[in-house]
Amino acid sequence: MAIEFDTIAAISTPPGEGGIGIVRISGDEALEIADRIYQLGSKNLKEQASHTIHYGRVVNPKTAEPIDEVMVSIMRAPKTYTREDVVEINTHGGIVSVNKVLETVLSNGARLAEPGEFTKRAFLNGRIDLSQAEAVMDVIRAKTDKAMHMAVTQLDGNLSRLIRNLRQEILNTLAQVEVNIDYPEYDDVEEMTSKLLVEKAAQVKAQVESLLETASQGKILREGLATAIIGRPNVGKSSLLNVLLKEEKAIVTEIAGTTRDVIEEYVSVKGVPLRLIDTAGIRETEDIVERIGVERSRKALSDADLVLLVFNQSEPLTPEDKLLLKATEEHHRIIILNKMDLENKLDLNELKTMVDPSSIVYTSIVTQAGLTELEGKIADLFFAGNTGEKDATYVSNIRHIALLNDTIEAFDDVIEGIETGMPVDLVQIDMTRAWDLLGEITGDSVQDELITQLFSQFCLGK
Ligand code: GDP
Ligand code: ZN
Repeated sequence: MAIEFDTIAAISTPPGEGGIGIVRISGDEALEIADRIYQLGSKNLKEQASHTIHYGRVVNPKTAEPIDEVMVSIMRAPKTYTREDVVEINTHGGIVSVNKVLETVLSNGARLAEPGEFTKRAFLNGRIDLSQAEAVMDVIRAKTDKAMHMAVTQLDGNLSRLIRNLRQEILNTLAQVEVNIDYPEYDDVEEMTSKLLVEKAAQVKAQVESLLETASQGKILREGLATAIIGRPNVGKSSLLNVLLKEEKAIVTEIAGTTRDVIEEYVSVKGVPLRLIDTAGIRETEDIVERIGVERSRKALSDADLVLLVFNQSEPLTPEDKLLLKATEEHHRIIILNKMDLENKLDLNELKTMVDPSSIVYTSIVTQAGLTELEGKIADLFFAGNTGEKDATYVSNIRHIALLNDTIEAFDDVIEGIETGMPVDLVQIDMTRAWDLLGEITGDSVQDELITQLFSQFCLGK
């Protein structure tokens, strides 16, 4: 049985001029409200079977003014997204009509949903756990196929399962400790108990650590690898950018900046999402070195996880090239020797004394030579070739990472406690803390404010 809430509604399609817009209503009164504003002869929505869809019109019941032609889906609890009664009104006018339908729904008894409130109800009604709810948010925000896949895997409960198994192990250990304490007649019971706690703490800690090791890859998959394409004028940066964008179907996102809108572009290279930095800079001016200066370019570079440093191999290395080499020394970088269709004038041996030879790749944007190798190098650099693990569980969520780190600390306290001869019941507290912390990931032990704060990060209508 679902917990009782009021009935909420929101537009659940993304903002903008789409072909259809959907107004979603959820709660005990969803059908009642839909019925008030729905019209098709004498058809009554409340009498219709669950999981059916109905053509009709939305009208303002007070003025009888028609609002839009619609298709209305009826889904009765519990087999719904929120586990409550859900009605979805598919409107087909543009944004104006969707808004008018929503207004009509709201003036007939529903309350406007807060961002994430539908998903929050799914969580509170026990349909999904917290890490799955967070995955919903990730699916909505996913910028690349890989990120999407990762989120869907999490939604599927991979991470939750893993965490629940770890918690179960901790619980078993705590139970065993209790048993030992209850039978103190054995002489060596204290020693046994201490040994058990240390062993288990170390064992589960190791599993948490290996989960954390996936975090940096997870973060990349989630946010995209911040990538800067740099090089002096005319070496082929714009050309390279265009090739990447064209071949890999760029996803362009607009982010409201403080002074102007910055355009972020994403490309997926062999499943590695690249978030290209300062592409506007590459497009607008041909002289990035002069424009931002070496000092500032170094600063711009500080955000980059990956640098694609482009040289023109039909010319000898110039002093500017060498400055850029110096400026990118500390970065993961790939040295692209472009224009390989032209005669070679760049001294490869000299270059090899300055950079890791395996980071060098020859390309020609004109003939497309070397581009596959370039993509391979990008992928290798970050996943050592194992991106293909389809159902690997990656941790990518900052909240999860912080909790896992705290869990490790709790285990360390357990181990240290035993080693310094702390009484077992005190050590138990730290072990229980580890159990609690892991539970916060799945929401099995979680506080109200956290839930409120988490769900408020969602988009409206989800
Ligand atoms: P940027 O200033 O670094 O952005 O360089 P552009 O991408 O604007 O390229 C400068 C010039 O080099 C343009 O005329 C391109 O067509 C040309 N170019 C780019 N890549 C190649 C290449 O691989 N081979 C040859 N021959 N020309 C290229
Ligand atoms: Zn350019």
